[in-house]
Amino acid sequence: MGFGHMGARARAAWRSRPRPHATWSALIAAVLIMPGAIALARPAPPAPVAARENPIEAALRRHVETLASDDFGGREPGTEGETRTLRYLARQWFDIGLVSGTNDPGNAWFAPVEIVERTPQSSRATFQHGRRRLAVDAKGVFVVTSGLRSLIEDAPLLLVGKDTNPETARTELAGRIAVILDSQSAAVAGTTPDDRAGRLLDAGAAAVITVLDGTRTLDDVAARRRRPGYALAGQKLGGDLQAYVSPELAEALFEPVGLGKFMALRQAMAAPGFVPRLIGLTGTLEATSSETRIHTHNLIGKLPGRRHDLGAVLLVAHWDHFGRCADPPAEHLICNGAVDNASGLAVITEAARILASAHPLDRDIYFLATTGEELGLLGAQAFAENPPLPLDAIMAVLNVDSTGLVGPGLPVSVIGAGMTDLDDSIATVLRAMHRRQVSGSAANAYVRRQDGWAFIQHDVPAVMVSSAYSDPARLEKFMDERYHRPTDVASQVEYGGMAEDVLLQVELARYFADVHRFAGPPVPRQDGPVR
Ligand SMILES: [Zn+2]
Repeated sequence: MGFGHMGARARAAWRSRPRPHATWSALIAAVLIMPGAIALARPAPPAPVAARENPIEAALRRHVETLASDDFGGREPGTEGETRTLRYLARQWFDIGLVSGTNDPGNAWFAPVEIVERTPQSSRATFQHGRRRLAVDAKGVFVVTSGLRSLIEDAPLLLVGKDTNPETARTELAGRIAVILDSQSAAVAGTTPDDRAGRLLDAGAAAVITVLDGTRTLDDVAARRRRPGYALAGQKLGGDLQAYVSPELAEALFEPVGLGKFMALRQAMAAPGFVPRLIGLTGTLEATSSETRIHTHNLIGKLPGRRHDLGAVLLVAHWDHFGRCADPPAEHLICNGAVDNASGLAVITEAARILASAHPLDRDIYFLATTGEELGLLGAQAFAENPPLPLDAIMAVLNVDSTGLVGPGLPVSVIGAGMTDLDDSIATVLRAMHRRQVSGSAANAYVRRQDGWAFIQHDVPAVMVSSAYSDPARLEKFMDERYHRPTDVASQVEYGGMAEDVLLQVELARYFADVHRFAGPPVPRQDGPVR
């Protein structure tokens, strides 16, 4: 299937639009306050394109080839890659006719986001039986904290059974170190093995020791937990303390204190009636982390509507990726993030061009390129916590992440289907565009892994509407071969489905920005600028 009925609309995108009133020098001034700013980035020279490529596809290709080039270094927050990425995008958006959407004259276009990175530094554990200190092989234990330094001294160890309800055990857990077996923390759907430890900590345990008697080894867990953790600065970072011990160390600790063979103990702890049990051991656990701060930015643009008191529509794509992500002897060391998410940036930019080229809509359209998505949706969270407009005024969030996986003509999936009040409206728009919608909500498996989730958690309706996820085989192949790897490069991107995604975002934005077609919930009064 070619472009067919969409041709006319696609061409409309290329009508020029009068220059906006904002000055380019204002944008340059904004750019210059960014750390490490240098001369304005130029887009890559236009790549040779296939003869049949339509203008939207050609524009998408130029954006992806630029943003996913090695020059942009994998778009890592706080690096030169960020400066280049944001400068490129801001220049595009400015030329298209958007204005700053931060609604903050002190920070035009670029809303600062401060991220804290914590990396586990040291780990120490000692155990006592009465007054006797037990010999502990340091290689058999790993202690980690989400805080800067956490210490608990001489706390009693409490064996916790497989079916123990943390809530009912609350009084027993207080001030104690809960000991659980990894083999008994089998993940319930949607949870990780560590969720059980988290529930015990929430219920008041001073720390949790997980005995790694299942499939995970101490090396596996330590390798994963030694990776840095990220949070927004100012966010409360817990100081919770967790330790992992090898089964050998558990045997060496438990058997001498009369608990019998470890295997028998495992069975007892798995029994339904197992009562949490003190074992006469106390533990001292300590872990520290090092901390660095990443100064990064969300980019926020706006296409003003005619009725700014009636709310807004928000288009989102994350700009960040992993920077350098491989070590020699690998030849290609950069995670260029072509699909993830140069593709989404390209889509919302070309959607902006089409929307800006036509008559103004009723509502404002905001365009948000988020930072820190790969670190845990942090830029979206920062936007939601310090929004440039009241969150209640946002009618719909349209996120675009990791498109560019399929050619044209495939049906459309709605990630977030069934979770917002937008479903009927989306179906109406798709019908009018003669687009088929994938039935069911299988694509919702990804709902927590994209920026829309940060908005849903703030009760702002957010969806991701794309044909990129409607071919499970292709999606799986991408996840296996390219996702978060140096192989996610521009040469692998498909532009046919992406160009259709542009038109989808345009029609959805037009629908939700039209007060007659979409009345939306009542919008809180905005008296004067909102900060
Ligand atoms: Zn990603």
